[in-house]
Amino acid sequence: MMNSENFTIEIDGDGLALVTWDMPGRSMNVFTQEVMGEFDAMVDEMVADAAVKGVVITSGKTGSFTGGADLKMLSGMFESFEAKKRENHDEAIRELFDGAGRMSWIWRKLETCGKPFVAAINGTCMGGGFELALACHGRVAATSAKMGLPEVKVGIFPGAGGTQRVPRLTDTQSALQMLLKGSTLTADKAKGMKLIDAVVSQDDLVATAKEMLKSGLSAVKPWDQKDFKLPSGPVYSPQGAQVWPAVASLYRKETNDNYPGARAIVKCVYEGLLVPMDTALTIEQRYFTEVLQTTEAAMMIRSLFVSMQELNKGARRPKNVPASDLKTVGIVGAGFMGAGIAYVAAQGGLDVVLIDRDQEAADKGKAHSRKLMEGLVSKGRATKEQAEAVLAKITATPDYDALKNADLVVEAVFEDRDVKAEVTRKVAAVLRKDAIYASNTSTIPITSLAEAFEDQERFIGIHFFSPVDRMMLTEVILGEKTGDKALAVALDFVRAIRKTPIVVNDTRGFFANRCVLRYMSEAYDMLVEGVPPAMIENAAKFAGMPVGPLALNDETAVDLSLKIMKATMRDMGEDSVDPRHFKLVEQMNGDGRLGRKAGKGFYDYPAKPAKKSLWPGLKDMFEQQPADQIDFEELKQRFLATMALEAARTMEEGVVVDPREADVGSILGFGYAPYTGGTISYIDGMGTEAFVALCEKLAAKHGERFEPTPLLREMAKTGETFYGRFPPEGSKAEAA
Ligand code: NAD
Repeated sequence: MMNSENFTIEIDGDGLALVTWDMPGRSMNVFTQEVMGEFDAMVDEMVADAAVKGVVITSGKTGSFTGGADLKMLSGMFESFEAKKRENHDEAIRELFDGAGRMSWIWRKLETCGKPFVAAINGTCMGGGFELALACHGRVAATSAKMGLPEVKVGIFPGAGGTQRVPRLTDTQSALQMLLKGSTLTADKAKGMKLIDAVVSQDDLVATAKEMLKSGLSAVKPWDQKDFKLPSGPVYSPQGAQVWPAVASLYRKETNDNYPGARAIVKCVYEGLLVPMDTALTIEQRYFTEVLQTTEAAMMIRSLFVSMQELNKGARRPKNVPASDLKTVGIVGAGFMGAGIAYVAAQGGLDVVLIDRDQEAADKGKAHSRKLMEGLVSKGRATKEQAEAVLAKITATPDYDALKNADLVVEAVFEDRDVKAEVTRKVAAVLRKDAIYASNTSTIPITSLAEAFEDQERFIGIHFFSPVDRMMLTEVILGEKTGDKALAVALDFVRAIRKTPIVVNDTRGFFANRCVLRYMSEAYDMLVEGVPPAMIENAAKFAGMPVGPLALNDETAVDLSLKIMKATMRDMGEDSVDPRHFKLVEQMNGDGRLGRKAGKGFYDYPAKPAKKSLWPGLKDMFEQQPADQIDFEELKQRFLATMALEAARTMEEGVVVDPREADVGSILGFGYAPYTGGTISYIDGMGTEAFVALCEKLAAKHGERFEPTPLLREMAKTGETFYGRFPPEGSKAEAA
């Protein structure tokens, strides 16, 4: 039997073949064109070899079966389609269609080849890999294995039979939930949904799979047999009539109709369940071909897969600095943020010295990690030993001497220039001369804070978002004198704690907060105009934002908004804040409506389990416009455009230099409508010319804040894109 580059085959005395997928030189298996070719040939061989009675497929990588398809293969397919379509449109479409279905038809061949195949899922099994498992005749998973079809999250959908086999194994409602959310399932959950036949320990995996084959597993799938019944009954049946009307609302709730990939899932399931499997797979292939051509798919794959991976791998890291050997991190200020940073650092395997003004305050900061670890233990996501090991990494103390071995210190004390300066001097007195000092300030320019530190090359900003354990973005801020080594160490630190960094030049609000302030400020404008508050919140959500601007303002606190406004007016002049906005926020503060923490803000927060609701008094503050006279689409555009325009300004000013960072930063930092691919891709996706026209329209109606910038106007003349104008450096990271 032939082994190939990526697969080894062993046949035992019972005629059972064990196929092990193990890609050389990769930490994880992924499907590339080459792998699919080898897999295809392997299936043919198994069928041709009379000695083979059944086949087990597993992976040679510890803890993972596969991450799924190499998404760059898809973007590659799409690029060649774009290039070809001008010459010969029909042929280009045919090629794209064939490419889109390649994986699906190999899986179908396996499913109908006449010999039984069992997938032995030893670990993470995502996307195309899980679709392969679903095409097998039996599926055994290790207890720790996780699986799912996350394609919808990058703008596409499971196009290798996923939309057909899942709803043929489990009820339609659960199938659609899983497909539309792109959720990851534990082995037990997958078994509960009948997507997996057995869950066993890692050691028994292959033996159990072979047992299934020996006990006469059928090589004909239920849906290829005559008497097959769908788990939720036929689409056109009393049962179907119970299920399908609810699907539209589920779909709307998950997507607000913004994601072509999600829309295609509903169509594939609905249409596919009416017909036999081969026709169903053809339907899926057609929709897949269609979705691959959408702007949303192209933008989402680029930002949420390719760019994110490149940034995580250190696309912006200075190449001349050797990898830093980070062992100990000091954190000064064990408050809300410092406690969170200590937790993620300890989770990332670093030793942490957590300092506050006294022992009690330092201990309180460490207690935050204890609480989070206990939560993980109670959910079964960590063992008690693991929790203890993480906590043992954190030393809480008021003693600055404990920082003498630190490789990096992150300061997270009060947002007060003088307090920060004093802390900086105290740390500098004990810090090693090669160690790096970082501030987590959210508003004070790094360049000015660095003045309290003698060697300013070693001073940098690392700006976290709250809650630190859940927010995946960090902004690394370069002061004027920040050196390469500080940048490299900061990026190595961010990598160690498994967050995504963007590198930003020093400016008021850095990147994310600048854009977010525009979001909230646009909502203030709408309030002042008399747009009903519920309409404001809904427009933002329909535009694709995860949280409405008023709800977000309540989370970040309305007193903070007032503080920021006052600081802005102090530094930039009285005119820098709209007096109507100031009056609104001042009034809210005066009434004690400070946001969620006060139990009242733009919303009222009654005791649980009651839900928050918009404060009725808000409507009385401004004369309300009749809702039917408001252009709802335009409200959506205003939100997306004002943030995109701010992002464009940051690029024009050189605050952000790489469009990938603006895009990824906007999605991870403030949830900017992910289907757009981010703030800059929103502009590039519609075309600079169309964006400038949109801004001009909005500026004429709503004021000069929407005026396109000079650079945008210039780019619009030639149709230049941001990715064309500011080509990302070395953007060719490997998949997975
Ligand atoms: P916090 O008030 O919760 O915590 C500050 C901590 O610093 C307190 O525990 C305090 O005891 C300690 N501290 C004060 N002076 C000290 C000193 N001289 N020595 C040692 N410890 C001292 O504040 P926070 O919300 O955690 O913010 C901390 C920093 O992080 C600020 O610069 C803030 O702007 C920034 N930040 C906050 C957020 C946020 O959402 N809260 C987000 C990003 C950045």
